Amino acid sequence: MTTDSKRFETLALHGGSYRADPATGSVAVPIYQTSSFQFDDADHAARLFALEEIGQIYTRIKNPTQDVLEERLAALEGGVAALAVSSGQAATAFSLLNIAQAGDNIVSSTDLYGGTWTLFSQTLKQFGVEIRFVDPADPENFRRATDERTRAYFAETLPNPKLHVFPIAEVAAIGRSLGVPLIVDNTATPLIARPFDHGAAIVVYSTTKYIGGHGAAIGGAIVDGGNFDWEAHAGRFPLLNTPDHAYHGVVWTEAAKPLGPIAYALRARTRLLRDLGAAIAPQNAFLFIQGLETLPLRIRQHVENAAKVADFLSGRDEVASVIFPGLQTGEPRRRADAYLSGGYGALVGFELKDGVEAGRRFIDSLKLLYHVANIGDARSLAIHPASTTHQQLTEEEQRAAGVTPGYVRLSVGIEHPDDIIADIGQALDAARSAPSRAPALNAA
Ligand code: PLP
Repeated sequence: MTTDSKRFETLALHGGSYRADPATGSVAVPIYQTSSFQFDDADHAARLFALEEIGQIYTRIKNPTQDVLEERLAALEGGVAALAVSSGQAATAFSLLNIAQAGDNIVSSTDLYGGTWTLFSQTLKQFGVEIRFVDPADPENFRRATDERTRAYFAETLPNPKLHVFPIAEVAAIGRSLGVPLIVDNTATPLIARPFDHGAAIVVYSTTKYIGGHGAAIGGAIVDGGNFDWEAHAGRFPLLNTPDHAYHGVVWTEAAKPLGPIAYALRARTRLLRDLGAAIAPQNAFLFIQGLETLPLRIRQHVENAAKVADFLSGRDEVASVIFPGLQTGEPRRRADAYLSGGYGALVGFELKDGVEAGRRFIDSLKLLYHVANIGDARSLAIHPASTTHQQLTEEEQRAAGVTPGYVRLSVGIEHPDDIIADIGQALDAARSAPSRAPALNAA
């Protein structure tokens, strides 16, 4: 079906070309649990390997269950193609390695998920790719850090713990004036933020979070906006514009021409999935398709609940401050209003006046909320970064990252808001008094 004019709720169920399984008529997308696919004949096999025809060869590169997920993600995001991979980390790594090689650099926002931070600061360094970190408070920092070896800008739409929305249009415009694409990790704000509408070229996701929605599988995706002219900046993107000797001399911008503006996505699949192999399992692709079907509904509930939780926390004496885009002022609020068209998201931070010990007591007193290092689950989740994810950092480093000793991060789920608030309320009461070891529902 054509997808252009449909709304999220419809695209989530029907986006892409899948209507029913061609072999059986199955309406639910079948899990094609196979490693390989039989060719029609020798010519067919040769055409597939020569990229003269796109089709199934081997599940590391492409699989029909994965295809449905990719088409639906591309339709929902407003992109031209998507690549599903085995994790959000793989999506981020591939998004850069697709266009950067040793000697190149990427300019990245400093406000990043911790796993992305170490991938950038440590692991990509091993590949000879330098990441230049800049403060996104001033978009011009991206221009200042750019040189002729800069291959991309990278940022998260709604990075925690600070929850300061990234200036997508401002940085995308700087990049476009210099021939540098902006890659946006939109994990925390699917459907809520629309990076392609603001000039981003590529969007990446950890589908593990809201897209899966049920905390049941790890996965990731790269969506190609099809809106960046890689050929016009051929000197900057030799990996896309010069013969690729790992694929019989193909030039990816040329090879993509009969298929549409998908040179970036085509290379990512054909080179990176083939060679690095972070393929998504068909079973997990199925789980993410299931998750997508209810994503628009869930996101609405997440967003509504989070706003109520933020309001509740703002009225509590023990809370020194609430970190939530809808409560920000000044430039952070302007950015939140400019880019979060579907609400202020479902991550809420707050700072307890009584510091680390109060944070630990609060977490230990929760009965409904789960204490896990994750976001985007249908269930409400909480974590105290100073004693967990950020414990290896000095207090000064923690503060630079936006983690104060009493900071607690909530990923607000889709339970009834009154029940979420009641649990937070009783844990705040307990955190104020003596250390509490109330039996938690999630203790098993
Ligand atoms: N990007 C963001 C914003 C994340 O929060 C995470 C995981 O927490 C990732 C990427 C990495 O995703 P995954 O855990 O699926 O590899």
